Amino acid sequence: MVFAACLVFAAAVEADVVELDDGRCIEGKVVAESDSAVTLAVGGGGRESFPRKKVKRVCKGMTLLDLYSEKEQAAGAEGALELGLWCERHGFKGLAVLSFRRAVGHDPSCAAAHERLGHALWEGKWFDSEEEMMAARGFVNFRGEFVARTEISARSAGFVEHEEDWFTADERKKMAEGRAVELPGRGKWKRVRTLHYRLFSTLPSARGLKFAEMSEQAYAAFKAHFGAEPSVMLEGDVFGALQDFEDFAVGSGMAMPGKLHTHGFFSGRKVHFPYVDDEYTSLNYLIHELCHQYDCLSGRPMNAPPWYFEGIACFFANHAIRDGKLAVALLVPSKNSNLYYLQHMIRTGKAWPLKAVLTGDPGPSIDRDFYNHAWGLVWFLTRCEKGGYPAKFKAYEEFVHSPQSAGKDLLQSFVEIIGPMETVEKDFLSYIASIKGIPWRGIGKPAGGK
Ligand SMILES: [Zn+2]
Repeated sequence: MVFAACLVFAAAVEADVVELDDGRCIEGKVVAESDSAVTLAVGGGGRESFPRKKVKRVCKGMTLLDLYSEKEQAAGAEGALELGLWCERHGFKGLAVLSFRRAVGHDPSCAAAHERLGHALWEGKWFDSEEEMMAARGFVNFRGEFVARTEISARSAGFVEHEEDWFTADERKKMAEGRAVELPGRGKWKRVRTLHYRLFSTLPSARGLKFAEMSEQAYAAFKAHFGAEPSVMLEGDVFGALQDFEDFAVGSGMAMPGKLHTHGFFSGRKVHFPYVDDEYTSLNYLIHELCHQYDCLSGRPMNAPPWYFEGIACFFANHAIRDGKLAVALLVPSKNSNLYYLQHMIRTGKAWPLKAVLTGDPGPSIDRDFYNHAWGLVWFLTRCEKGGYPAKFKAYEEFVHSPQSAGKDLLQSFVEIIGPMETVEKDFLSYIASIKGIPWRGIGKPAGGK
């Protein structure tokens, strides 16, 4: 649901690190060394000298991140708190979170690590957040304030409750019309609501509201396609700054600093995604993750293979906004990087064999090429009338969402429902190749996988 998009090969970094006696580490390039001092060229053209007697060691050819890896291996669970503090001190926010989590996993009573994680203590028990702690104490979030549950009926006179939030009659009416409403938030996080979504956002208000309204319109499209509806409130975190998202992803163990391969993920019932570059790309990621969330939380069995799971999300994510209305599951060649790359691979003879797409092979990770093929296969199956594929695909979708699919060989089921591998492969590739795409000259930043 989450995985790495493109393969990024880090360029070899010409760096050294000086580790001081007090634990501080400075990355740069050693330009002079003597018995009395070590001089380092640091970022921004500056130089720093350190008295030799304060230098614990000079790590040649290492970056701060290399040093982290070394420390991480040596630290173990016992040293996780200290490692977390080292990470904080050296600007690795996400890695610090990861270490503090490891520390509380090892020792659930480690107050220092809980505090760094923003956990809240009440009657000897740690809660993941102040909100959870206050909820356990019988408080309700009433428009950004904690109000005792016993007092809520007095405080909420004139307000309407919808899925645990309280609205004025006007706001509730707006939501019924598909609009979004911003409620008082906490800290930097705005609380944006629609009928079906609660988004916590650090986007500017206008964009946060717009994205929430687009989510609501995507919901209608999912409902029309999948039928069954989730029975739970759908939540998401929208990171206005890519760095914040990276820190979060690193803290969740999904990336390393500077090596973010994912632009959004769905976990713990919540979607998490960043604003990137431009609105189109960002909405593409958002709709993709919302599709996963809807598909997984709508209460039906879910025995779909990765190509379907990712393919259907990419299928919906290719969108356009026309007169303020979101249209999804489109083919807009000038925007569709999945089509662009897939056609390129077909043209250069590098398209994956269908079996590789269906089984998720080759390759240990789900990379961008996998997403492109998965999108293409879903597009072909939903659109190619010749061979009757749309009807067969509908049957296949019903199958993977039915109890009958549990434990079945999914490759064999595909052949039984859709058709023989060779025939489908031939039809698939020639259908995609025949779409009028755009010339191979780059379409800006590719959307990649998420
Ligand atoms: Zn995905």
